[in-house]
Amino acid sequence: MDKLQKDGYSKFLKDYFETNRELFSSLSKSQKPETMIITCSDSRINPALLLNAQPGELFIARNIGNVVPPYLPIKGSTQAAIEYAVNALSIKRVVILGHSNCGACAHMYHKQSENEPELLHVKEWLKYIIPAKSAAMLEVHANPKQNIFELTEKHNIVTSLQRLMEYPYIQNRLIEDRITLEGWWYDIGTGKVEIYDFSKRDFLSIID
Ligand SMILES: [Zn+2]
Repeated sequence: MDKLQKDGYSKFLKDYFETNRELFSSLSKSQKPETMIITCSDSRINPALLLNAQPGELFIARNIGNVVPPYLPIKGSTQAAIEYAVNALSIKRVVILGHSNCGACAHMYHKQSENEPELLHVKEWLKYIIPAKSAAMLEVHANPKQNIFELTEKHNIVTSLQRLMEYPYIQNRLIEDRITLEGWWYDIGTGKVEIYDFSKRDFLSIID
């Protein structure tokens, strides 16, 4: 533990933990979150801070590019997290939280270079973002003024939502109205959040 972390941990114990002793005591026995957040591993994204959420409120799965892989009977930590959240914890809402300046989405447009560090697994993982890249390129072809990176980030969120809808147990819950799916795009520089509107097929700002 470096000094920064040690100081941070001491402050947590002294301030936050002390103030919320009862909360932690009840959480020590079980959790009952109602919302699952699937977001990017990016260090700038902190769902609990963004939503002012307490421990126990958000079940979070993180990966490079906030990707939901297709439903396939293969090993996958994101698929296992979704399965556990929905089938064991019975969460009521899944939010795909994407963001601006996402390195995973931008990487789709990088040229291969000889001096590239080893990114074998990253490259394999990023194949899940190819459909979002294709959709963004089509839109930019029609309207070159649009920001291709932001479009890719947003299409990537929509692709993840579509894939979630193909998970059989989520499909069943959607039909029975027992779960809702949401797609959010968070702008790091402004703090703005836009939410995907399924009927308008667009991301709309939630605060004017
Ligand atoms: Zn990202």
